[in-house]
Amino acid sequence: MREFNAVVLGAGGVGKSALTCRFIRNVFLEGYDPTIEEAYRRIVEIDGQMSQLEILDTAGAEQFTAINEFYIKSGMGFILVFSLTQESTLREVDNLRQQIYRIKGGPDPIPIVVVGTKSDLTAEREVQRATIEKLVNHWGLPFYETSAKKNWHVTDVFENLVRQMRER
Ligand code: GDP
Ligand code: MG
Repeated sequence: MREFNAVVLGAGGVGKSALTCRFIRNVFLEGYDPTIEEAYRRIVEIDGQMSQLEILDTAGAEQFTAINEFYIKSGMGFILVFSLTQESTLREVDNLRQQIYRIKGGPDPIPIVVVGTKSDLTAEREVQRATIEKLVNHWGLPFYETSAKKNWHVTDVFENLVRQMRER
């Protein structure tokens, strides 16, 4: 069985842990502990192929570039998370994206998926679909709007990333 590892990155409070826990355990994390960093493993079957997927849910250490650099070096694929309810968190995604290309460099495409979380909070939404679509088209990256609470498109994110990692 092939093994892949993915790193979940993004500003604090955007929903990285909720997204990861929904995928791994199929539960919604109500509470918020920004300090928890945890690695999870799951066997996934995608397109009839089994793979072992390790997911590192990082804790808000975005400011510390050295830590990010370590995460980025050790990761095969990346899930870059922002909250649709907080436009400022998009900037962190762009920053992380640039760091990934700088650190990983090289001619090979890097498996990345961009995720806008909390799509169920429609009244609090700050990032419009057109804004983000323009950005991800410019970056050439796949994008999903998810809700860990409602379990909307969570699986799509991880499946897309595994498909990209398989092709490498
Ligand atoms: P992290 O710091 O990026 O890991 O953020 P968390 O996953 O801990 O989420 C921060 C807060 O947002 C928590 O209170 C979560 O319950 C809440 N949250 C995360 N995802 C969603 C979502 O899809 N919908 C809603 N309504 N709340 C969410
Ligand atoms: Mg967290």
